[in-house]
Amino acid sequence: MAKVKVDKGLCIGCGTCVSMCEDCFELSDDMKSQVKGTCTADCCNLKEVLEACPVAAITLDN
Ligand code: SF4
Repeated sequence: MAKVKVDKGLCIGCGTCVSMCEDCFELSDDMKSQVKGTCTADCCNLKEVLEACPVAAITLDN
């Protein structure tokens, strides 16, 4: 199964990924996106989310 990761060093906390898939992403206390345990990597169109991130902080490992 593909594994989703967020590079917190790059994330600017814009919330775009959270609004696109609340099963996969949430903003942590430091206002950085983090991957939730409920993410199955096929519950939403992750490729679209990856492309929507303005700083390319989200990666998908197969
Ligand atoms: S879309 Fe990118 S920059 Fe915005 S909160 Fe998500 S990971 Fe961070």
